[in-house]
Amino acid sequence: MDTTTRPSTSLRPGIAPEWILDPGGPADGQCRAGDRRARSRRPLFRLLVTLLVVGTIGAGTAAAVVTAAVASRPDYPGGVAVAGDDEGSAAARGGGRPTAEDGFIADGDSVAVSDMSAPAVARLDPALREALQRAHDTAEEDGIDLRVGSGWRSKAYQSWLLREAVRTYGSAEEAARWVGTPETSQHVKGEAVDIAPYAAADWLHRHGAEFGLCRTYDNEPWHFELSPSAVEAGCPAMFRDPTEDPRMQG
Ligand SMILES: [Zn+2]
Repeated sequence: MDTTTRPSTSLRPGIAPEWILDPGGPADGQCRAGDRRARSRRPLFRLLVTLLVVGTIGAGTAAAVVTAAVASRPDYPGGVAVAGDDEGSAAARGGGRPTAEDGFIADGDSVAVSDMSAPAVARLDPALREALQRAHDTAEEDGIDLRVGSGWRSKAYQSWLLREAVRTYGSAEEAARWVGTPETSQHVKGEAVDIAPYAAADWLHRHGAEFGLCRTYDNEPWHFELSPSAVEAGCPAMFRDPTEDPRMQG
């Protein structure tokens, strides 16, 4: 396969999807204390007013921080957190085989990009999921069923994959060329998908830029991430493998 060719950008002018234009919604929840022109000359009263204002600003800031944190989480089905958390299922945290709750999808298996009952899909970054849905719908017109072979993963699942990779490749160094750590993997962040089957990954390699979906690594033809600038500028150059990715350091 000629891997040096840049993916086709095949731009369609004027169809920048709304998620490109939406900067993520207003995050400015700063509490405005308002003008306080009426001032008392009595120092104690002024002190009390000051304390009240400082307290209000503090509470407002705390509320804004909480709101921003909640807003940045993946949106779960029905707005309710799915079972489990980023760490993973009890089984996987105990060193056992990961479950669907960890985002586990068996080798050779896949789930629909719209399957919100699968944590692997439901816990993806919503913008990534929306881009995938758009790509899926267009691919369908070409007779391609674009599916998710792996999406969001819990930290315990990622640790399990890393242990498996070390067994498979014989060394931590070689495993690192293929599998990130729970701290570095974009899958754990909900910001990467592995596309299945191969024909769909190949289709997305050729058409993904128009949806802002780009391959990241030359050695992983199935792995895609969201790169909104690709809609206008085409996909950025790929890393040869994850060891060249600065995000993988650390
Ligand atoms: Zn991947």
